[in-house]
Amino acid sequence: MNRKIIVANWKMNPQTLDEASRLLDGIAQGFKDADSKKLELVLAPPFPYLYESKKRLPRGIGLAAQDVSFSERGAYTGEVSALMVKNAGCDYAIIGHSERRWKMGETDETINLKIKQALAAGLKPILAVGEKEEGADLTQIIGTQLAKALDGVASLEDITIAYEPVWAIGTGKPDTPDGALSAALLIRKIVGNIYDNYQSENLSVLYGGSVNADNVKSFVFQNGINGALVGGASIVAQDFTKIIKLILNM
Ligand code: PEP
Repeated sequence: MNRKIIVANWKMNPQTLDEASRLLDGIAQGFKDADSKKLELVLAPPFPYLYESKKRLPRGIGLAAQDVSFSERGAYTGEVSALMVKNAGCDYAIIGHSERRWKMGETDETINLKIKQALAAGLKPILAVGEKEEGADLTQIIGTQLAKALDGVASLEDITIAYEPVWAIGTGKPDTPDGALSAALLIRKIVGNIYDNYQSENLSVLYGGSVNADNVKSFVFQNGINGALVGGASIVAQDFTKIIKLILNM
């Protein structure tokens, strides 16, 4: 079995550092003695918890920021730079999450700048793409999102793409395994056209959208999907541990 990647997007949860520490410790316990050849686990807590998370995380679990600034530095109140999160211990950064695109008005152009900032700081971007409406033209929407986000990016070596249909996020209504797979294959085809076959075949593509312990296997054990981006089911240690164990026991 190829190594699977599970990314936990905690979004704006939990509300206190104590709770965050308990959640992290619970997840780490569930991952204890895990075979790292089977699973790469990455946690994405909110910014204020990154330093403490890095201190508590056992080796073998990666840390991601949920976003980075479009700018390297400067007078941008409220922004957090890629280098700051790198220095806080992050290996990855989620970029272009649909909640940022649709609730915060983030554009493909801004996402492109963020990808470049992340790469320049030594972070591995997890680029989220996906359509807002079920049944929309995926070739057009994802094609544009990828072309614009990756404009001027020389290589996909450090980039992971997460296919996240917006209508499936946080709704309890996931895509079908077939739908997720055909979107993942479409993503590979699009990046194959932008880059080359080697990069397309070696790209990690995740599925995200209402993944839980009951459905995770149906998504991630298909050739062409390398893992999952998990939101709601990642903020309860017991639920998330179930997901981890299902992957490890395959
Ligand atoms: C997400 O936050 O990217 C996500 C997929 O959330 P959920 O699993 O809750 O749908």
